[in-house]
Amino acid sequence: MTDQRIILTPGPVTTSVATRQAMLRDYSLNEPEFLALTAELRATLVELANGGERYVCVPLQGTGNGANEATLGTLVPRGRKLLIISNGFYGERLKQIAPAIGLTAVALDLPITQPATADALEAALAADPAIGHVVVCHVDTGTGLLNPIEPLAAVCRRRGVGLIVDAIASFGGLPLDACALDAEAIVVSPNKWLEGVPGLAAVLVRRAALEAAEGRCHSYCLDLYRQWRSFEDSGRWRFTPPTQATAALVAALRQYLAEGQAARLARVRRNWRCLVDGLRALGFETVLANEVASPVITTFHQPADPNYERERFFAAMWRRGFVMFRGSLTPFPTFRIGCMGAFDDKVMREVVRAVGEAMAEMGVTDCRPAHQQTAAE
Ligand SMILES: *Cc1c(COP(=O)(O)O)cnc(C)c1O
Repeated sequence: MTDQRIILTPGPVTTSVATRQAMLRDYSLNEPEFLALTAELRATLVELANGGERYVCVPLQGTGNGANEATLGTLVPRGRKLLIISNGFYGERLKQIAPAIGLTAVALDLPITQPATADALEAALAADPAIGHVVVCHVDTGTGLLNPIEPLAAVCRRRGVGLIVDAIASFGGLPLDACALDAEAIVVSPNKWLEGVPGLAAVLVRRAALEAAEGRCHSYCLDLYRQWRSFEDSGRWRFTPPTQATAALVAALRQYLAEGQAARLARVRRNWRCLVDGLRALGFETVLANEVASPVITTFHQPADPNYERERFFAAMWRRGFVMFRGSLTPFPTFRIGCMGAFDDKVMREVVRAVGEAMAEMGVTDCRPAHQQTAAE
């Protein structure tokens, strides 16, 4: 018996025993075994993105947000504008990062239930010729909303605007082809679809764009160009490497390749299907329609039933072995359940059952949100 719970938050996620076992040994920073792991990590991520010779992988110590900040700071020239597409919590986060690092940003704000379209992007770019880069979350994890990337990339290609994709919540699950998109950068996290552990992030960057970015970054430590030069020149990390997280990610990538991208996506999609169908059958309502939702995470309206208590719900789930995310990232009260991680729909059926039991325990008999109850009256 362990105290290990199934993590239903979108990062960190539940990892496999093999991935955790990869962290049981120490590595010194420049030993050949560790440099080989680093090289394997970089090459595998380029391959997964179909980056060929045109893209390089720059791993970076720290978090996904840090990698977003490093990417924007390194690639967006001062004096040109950055357009931030925002239709959720993580788009809003990008809007906070940009001014904090001295970038001039404009926003294309959309409702949190509405994916960005080529037409909306086209209009925003036409309105402001000073925009040289666009950044968008492929999936905004605040709700799970999916922004179809290819139509947005087509607009950027046609207008010669650099596209930066925050693919932290999608990479490894939803297909992304760097060369076909001709994206300037794709930001990746190990601790979502890839089922690695936190401690690093990675950016797939078009080599030519990175070469042109020498000396541009606002930050010494977050400079992707300098970070990349270290890997290129010596195969080494620039500062103390996240040795355990690197070893875990390589182990997770080997398991990922054995499972295959299509099978990983299918497994998480089954988790999502099971969750959404199961909770809707209990009366819960999702914030997003299925057509615009990704299988990454699902956001549900909080029940209006006066017996519902958020903390009691989460505590009841915890006792049953499930960890839920405490925050609500929408303007109205919601809860979220993530579908990524090393588990399948057998486990998700248990999650659904646990939610039902938690509601019964509280005496919640009606799981619909307020607007549905009013509509029915
Ligand atoms: C998780 C996530 C992030 C933030 O990653 P951290 O590692 O928590 O900094 C950024 N963007 C998206 C879309 C995410 O899902």
